Amino acid sequence: MISFIGAGPGDPELLTIKGKKLIDAADVIIYAGSLVNPEVLSGRKKDAEVFNSAYMDLDEVIAVMEKAEKEGKKCVRVHTGDPAIYGAHREQMDRLDKLGITYEVIPGVSSFLATAAVLNKEYTLPGKSQTVILTRMEGRTPMPPKEKLVDLARHHSTMIIFLSVGFLDEMTKTLIEGGYEPETPVAVVYKATWPDQKIVVGTLADIEAKVKAEGITKTALTVVGDFLGDEYELSKLYDSHFSTEFRKAKD
Ligand code: SAH
Repeated sequence: MISFIGAGPGDPELLTIKGKKLIDAADVIIYAGSLVNPEVLSGRKKDAEVFNSAYMDLDEVIAVMEKAEKEGKKCVRVHTGDPAIYGAHREQMDRLDKLGITYEVIPGVSSFLATAAVLNKEYTLPGKSQTVILTRMEGRTPMPPKEKLVDLARHHSTMIIFLSVGFLDEMTKTLIEGGYEPETPVAVVYKATWPDQKIVVGTLADIEAKVKAEGITKTALTVVGDFLGDEYELSKLYDSHFSTEFRKAKD
């Protein structure tokens, strides 16, 4: 059985206990070396074989998994954050299905959740936004026609943009064109939870210059929306005048 493991955003202590136990017991480790903190592998067996998938194509990754299975070795595939978000994870599972190799998925802390944590923010502020859009810009790989950034912007929701900090100029223009005011707050978080983490805050109008000044060109998330501001309604869940399943209203 292959174990796909979400390694979390960077801080090795943000790996799940289940993920760590599997990594530490593995004979063969394939990890996404461009983003996974090598520290998450620090407890591995001395003789574990380690492969960096940054240098491998899909066939090569599957070949390593297949060989490990044939030899009765435990193989783990370590993805950054959570594999379900831009992990190119499904294509591996489908190939394993065809080969009759079983697998399991151990979720991880996605970078978008680590980003909210380091910003001390909540994405779903009552009265501001109750919807979170995770997306990316059209770069070297196209976006489906109904998911253009300009169309997604019309919802004015909390927006989290992956893989796209290199296109901030076009991104901010498109978001404004789609309906966000130029004053809408934006944060760019580089390497959330890593020792060299950087946080840049601004508005759609000025964030690009600020991010450029910090020299950030990759491994960053751009989060956009009024959730970054200070105006919102208090929740009903903890409202003393509102009854819930567990608590009666006080008047
Ligand atoms: N599966 C990953 C995302 C992989 S796509 C997850 O769940 O987080 C890679 C993109 O994720 C990067 O280009 C960047 O936009 C974002 N990313 C990954 N780790 C990050 C981190 N620690 N801080 C900020 N952004 C990060």
